[in-house]
Amino acid sequence: MTRVVMSQIRKTFGESIALEDFSIIFEPGDLVCLLGPSGCGKTTALRILAGFENADSGSVTVNGEDITRVPVSKRHFGMVFQDYSLFPNMTSRENIDFGLKAQKRSSAQRTEIIDRMLFITALEDQADKFPHQMSGGQKQRVALARAIATEPNLLLLDEPLSALDAKVRESLRDEIRRLQKEIGVTTVFVTHDQDEALAIADQVGVMSRGRLEQIASPRDLYEHPVNPFVASFIGSINRFVAIAGDQGMWGVLNRWVMSDRPSVLGDTAVLGIRPEELAVDVAGDGNARITDISFLGPVTRVSVEFADHATSQNPEVIADLMSAECARLSVGDKVQVRVRDDVTSAIMMSKPESEAFTESESIVHVN
Ligand code: ATP
Repeated sequence: MTRVVMSQIRKTFGESIALEDFSIIFEPGDLVCLLGPSGCGKTTALRILAGFENADSGSVTVNGEDITRVPVSKRHFGMVFQDYSLFPNMTSRENIDFGLKAQKRSSAQRTEIIDRMLFITALEDQADKFPHQMSGGQKQRVALARAIATEPNLLLLDEPLSALDAKVRESLRDEIRRLQKEIGVTTVFVTHDQDEALAIADQVGVMSRGRLEQIASPRDLYEHPVNPFVASFIGSINRFVAIAGDQGMWGVLNRWVMSDRPSVLGDTAVLGIRPEELAVDVAGDGNARITDISFLGPVTRVSVEFADHATSQNPEVIADLMSAECARLSVGDKVQVRVRDDVTSAIMMSKPESEAFTESESIVHVN
């Protein structure tokens, strides 16, 4: 299996800096999603990996061997693009065969591999169809089968699901994950869809403005973001003004919690509380008022506005409650919003005393 290292990559297009000091390790067999806002450099990173673009500086190594200047054709990587990029005049079978022919495999070997690929991507009944005769999901499965048929060292997927509708997206996403684990190929998957990344990745690399902010498992990213950018990019987060208490604790609404920076008496800071860490109780003399209720199935998202605007840094705070627990809530109700009793720590979103805070500054983990 393949270990790929991109090290201190810089890439500019004229005045625009697409990647700056970009370093990342893709461990053997991992499915890594590169995730970040539009224009953060995800596609550029993938294109440099593939060999379609040359970095201005920095290096790419595969199992320790420097491939920075190796051309695309010699890298032996598989690629799947958003627009499928199938050969329109070839059937599914012929599309899959294309790379195998280039590898000069024997006819018997090719037939065996194609049949296996058609089987594992559930495309047996589409084998002799041309791309225009198939649905988007089927075409993308052919593209995937074609990419993995040649047993590539690395599989690169560039927004492979974004042209598909929600249901197909979800099932193909799970299929990609299953196939990737079955064949064990190290995979880099570029997406701007957070749910997609969290659902399928072993590791998610969060990017911002050409840099890697953090790479970690989905759960670690959510629970231990290294900075406020990651904390607010992954999932939702409410910002509350916290006051200092004893033994380095911070007071947020009703609770004393720990954070990565212990408090010093007299300090204030802004701490992040996730929507599911809040509880909402109807109370005539409560601290907030419900402004919106969205039923999302098992969970209901309740938006509230605090009577004292200094409490929260957001004009609106959101709480995700179990739907079964909030049937009695209505828009306009006065409520008491509190931090749930089992919450013991919170993410530091802004330094004590509001020192200058840069988004990329690291903060240490919270428990
Ligand atoms: P998106 O999610 O919108 O596809 P991205 O994260 O993939 O965005 P890139 O396509 O890698 O971002 O672009 C990074 C930056 O580099 C952007 O500012 C973009 O405008 C710029 N850029 C990328 N390719 C080129 C190019 N060929 N010529 C000029 N600028 C480019």
